[in-house]
Amino acid sequence: MTLAIGIESTAHTFGVAVVDGDGKKVLSNVIKAFKTEEGEGGMIPSKVADHHVDVCQEALSEALKNAGVKASQADLVAFSQGPGIGHCLRVGAGVARSLSLALKKPLVGVNHCIAHLEVCRFLTHSRDPVLLYASGANTQVIAYEAGKYRVFGETLDIGVGNFIDGFARALGLGFPGGPKIESLAKEGKRLIKLPYSVKGMDVSLGGLSTNLKTKIKSGEYSKEDLCFSVQETVFAMLVEVAERAMAHTGKNELVLGGGVACNKRLQEMCKVMCEERGAEVFFLENQFYVDNAAMIAITGLEMYKAGARTLVEKSEIRPSERTDDVSVSWR
Ligand code: AMP
Ligand code: MG
Repeated sequence: MTLAIGIESTAHTFGVAVVDGDGKKVLSNVIKAFKTEEGEGGMIPSKVADHHVDVCQEALSEALKNAGVKASQADLVAFSQGPGIGHCLRVGAGVARSLSLALKKPLVGVNHCIAHLEVCRFLTHSRDPVLLYASGANTQVIAYEAGKYRVFGETLDIGVGNFIDGFARALGLGFPGGPKIESLAKEGKRLIKLPYSVKGMDVSLGGLSTNLKTKIKSGEYSKEDLCFSVQETVFAMLVEVAERAMAHTGKNELVLGGGVACNKRLQEMCKVMCEERGAEVFFLENQFYVDNAAMIAITGLEMYKAGARTLVEKSEIRPSERTDDVSVSWR
């Protein structure tokens, strides 16, 4: 049994997971998400980092207990090395280095965005998918091509989750906005025409965000219709760029990642697109879409099997690491 402890701390979530690489099983996946008192949203990096420090010991004990293993049984310690918020990354990296030194087990630094794709390959039978990564800060279409994971398309301004949360805030809904928008959208009856901005394989959401603020102020539209129309428009943009990347790369598998991937309407639209082009789409449980440490442990395991090791003295965090900065040794 090859056991990995994974640690995630790129942004609001501190997570610890234990994964069995040979049995291909996630033994535990503890997720401790930072929330503001009033549910107002907004993250102050130093406060989020304090949260991670507060919960790290508990998260580790829970993950080991849920998995029924001792830390000493781990073969490696994997951690999110980047990209992300420096303050937050530093906490996870510190915990991972300490564990690695105390246990005398190798450390493996993992790219968070790539981990969102690798978890899909590990938990489903998808082999070479295009990933639609739709989270708070990130919106990218990623696939493996010519020895690297490459970004085929992305947002030119804000991430789709942050866009949705900003829209929700303007409507007076709390944070996170995604689930509230999803449930209000079910009551929507009218499709309001909204700016649709796809440029090649990229999307842009800033103009739409401004347009919506004006529409909300006018008082002419119901919340439900606005939520419905936002979902239909924005998800159509995401599905269009994902489909373009599939056509461009000739790949016939699609997977999703990021908190926005929890949205059932987005999933449905992806399913329809894939059916129409004879491709396959794979879905995961929500715990593997949101930021989580299982995906870090999984990617760390694959890298470890291919010989990757991160020396403690070279385990600096990489807040702005790009997906295609990573040389891929494990595929
Ligand atoms: P992440 O950054 O990957 O943790 O994802 C967080 C983002 O996902 C936030 O912006 C949430 O509003 C968004 N989100 C969570 N659930 C849903 C949902 N059901 N529909 C749309 N967005 C969602
Ligand atoms: Mg993420």
